[in-house]
Amino acid sequence: MDRLAQLDKQYLWHPFTPMKLWLEDEPVVIDRGEGVYLIDTQGNRYIDGVSSLWCNVHGHNHPVINSHITRQLEKISHSTLLGLASGPSIELAEKLANLAPEGLNRVFYSDAGATSVEIGIKIAFQYWRIKGQSRRQKFVALKQSYHGDTMGSVSIGGIETFHKIFGPMTFAALFAESPHPYRYSGTVDECRESALADMRRILEEHGNEVAAIVVEPLVQGAAGLIVHPAGYLAGVRKLADEFGVLLVVDEVATGFGKTGTIFAHEREGVKPDIFCVAKGLTGGYLPLAATIVSDEVFEPFTGEPLSDTTFYHGHTYTGNALACAAALGCLEVFEKENTLAGLGERISLIEKYLEKMKGFNNVGNVRHCGLMAGVELVEDKDTQANFDSGMRLGANICQVLRSKGVMMRPLGDVLVIMPPLAIPVEVLDDMLETVCEVVSSYFA
Ligand code: PLP
Repeated sequence: MDRLAQLDKQYLWHPFTPMKLWLEDEPVVIDRGEGVYLIDTQGNRYIDGVSSLWCNVHGHNHPVINSHITRQLEKISHSTLLGLASGPSIELAEKLANLAPEGLNRVFYSDAGATSVEIGIKIAFQYWRIKGQSRRQKFVALKQSYHGDTMGSVSIGGIETFHKIFGPMTFAALFAESPHPYRYSGTVDECRESALADMRRILEEHGNEVAAIVVEPLVQGAAGLIVHPAGYLAGVRKLADEFGVLLVVDEVATGFGKTGTIFAHEREGVKPDIFCVAKGLTGGYLPLAATIVSDEVFEPFTGEPLSDTTFYHGHTYTGNALACAAALGCLEVFEKENTLAGLGERISLIEKYLEKMKGFNNVGNVRHCGLMAGVELVEDKDTQANFDSGMRLGANICQVLRSKGVMMRPLGDVLVIMPPLAIPVEVLDDMLETVCEVVSSYFA
């Protein structure tokens, strides 16, 4: 084992990682990146099949993003946004407002997806207090949702495995059924309507106590890539309007092209009141998040300073200049390389391979939305029953894939395929061919 691997085992505590297993194993230490490849300290190359936890967009070490960062580095790396303004954060805020639906023009920065959602719900909470409706303190979220690991985000998260330990620390949220077409016995349309009916039931019961509904748009990522039926998000928007509550859309995973458009909410013509972005915002180069709010939501915060209209939330690195420069670079590459126009071909390729995998032993439901795809491994194809989680089947298959040069990370027994948007078509083809080979031979 090389020196870095040894020191890792001695000193690091890895996120979302059963450390017993980690310490029994030999870690892969990444040394550098070239386009869609990760290269470890031993010189092995891997296709970055989950875009470095769903954030890389245009590949690693991209000259345009690098040059934005290095140009900024030579000026200044960071100055505070508390009481001061800084160029890159302003330029980026203007660009984000231009990308957002009309009327969403105000950008609040932070550093992670979780904080962008935490900020979204705190803004919604304070908004109603300023408006004199302080009974509106509750949040409606979806079962099996994931919004990050700060306590507010955990409170509106619905994944048992991640959240149950912290239950006693959280505030009580209201959880609506998530539209889960693969686990629903009726049609996809019935699934959507039944989930919307459940949301309506909650709003009828608690409507005037609800501050906001918070949803992941189109795809519930961490739940195992649950792709919502078309029209669900638009239906939630209608309910939010009908009951006069705010809609917070968490675009942390779906933003910046992953579903085929810059933001997923565009696909349903939905205008959120607040939406959250992180991961792909800097192309996956530096930590940065933004909570983007409508003019209506922002307006009450412009009252007299002594009337509780100040949003007392901030982080030392809010609006970091290097991270904002990276984000400006990422948006420039979207334009220069016409990234979105190339997605259709990649999405068709993914569809082709998913279709093929459907026929394999122990492959249950396969699904995708744009470049976010999931392949569910099941013990029984007829009942769609999952394997015992203790078998860690998804993790074992990803281990085999790694030995074949494809880096993937599963969600339980769902194999997640989510390459950088810029993956060359022939590399994607190779990667999917490898996934097919490994899965079919594993269950042969
Ligand atoms: N929201 C969604 C929808 C996510 O998928 C994630 C992370 O996967 C987060 C929030 C949390 O983001 P971060 O890990 O940057 O805090």
